[in-house]
Amino acid sequence: MKLVFATGNSGKLREASEILGEGFELVTPAQVGISEDIPETGKTLRANSLQKAQYLYDKSGSNCFADDTGLEVDALRGAPGVYTARYAGDDKDFNKNMDKVLRELEVVSGEASMASSLGLKVKPVSRRARFKSVITLIMNGEKHIFEGSLEGVIANGKSGNGGFGYDPIFIPDEYPGKTLADITEEQKNMISHRGKALRAMAEWLAANAGRTAASK
Ligand code: IMP
Repeated sequence: MKLVFATGNSGKLREASEILGEGFELVTPAQVGISEDIPETGKTLRANSLQKAQYLYDKSGSNCFADDTGLEVDALRGAPGVYTARYAGDDKDFNKNMDKVLRELEVVSGEASMASSLGLKVKPVSRRARFKSVITLIMNGEKHIFEGSLEGVIANGKSGNGGFGYDPIFIPDEYPGKTLADITEEQKNMISHRGKALRAMAEWLAANAGRTAASK
């Protein structure tokens, strides 16, 4: 079955192909003639994944899916959240984004220790965070949503050479002391937010592919 996946990221394409397995041919927007940036102006991950999938479906007329991912840091009241890709600016620079998160956590910790030194009762600053992924699949015009999350903490600094995005500062609960950039791609895919959402979609497709086989 052919599915268009709203990504230009070859790593993501490979990951999705591996998880969906044989029987699915994933193609990129460029391969169906969509070369412009797909709009994502929603206020939530769900709205963005829906907007991207709908855009692809309207333009290509093909069954398709789109994902949107965000990092939520508790001490930053859920930021960067829906602004994860552009947290430090429109150039979507991974390093600047990670530096901003680390800097802001330092500020919050500094404020907490200042308050504590003044004799105020303050809770220790939590570095707890999570990645959340939302996938919208559009099959023959019907929309289906799949979600996955990964719990962990923000490291004190960057570590590791693997992965992408915020991986070097995210320590998943499953691998204490290691960031997502320290573990292998296989280990990451087994536990990751996007891996979970993709597997949920794969299970749904396996159970329903017959029903939806009459794809456009
Ligand atoms: P997108 O919705 O997949 O484009 O992701 C938004 C932003 O989240 C990206 O720019 C990445 O910086 C970050 N991101 C998404 N997935 C991951 C991941 O698995 N690890 C680290 N960062 C990620």
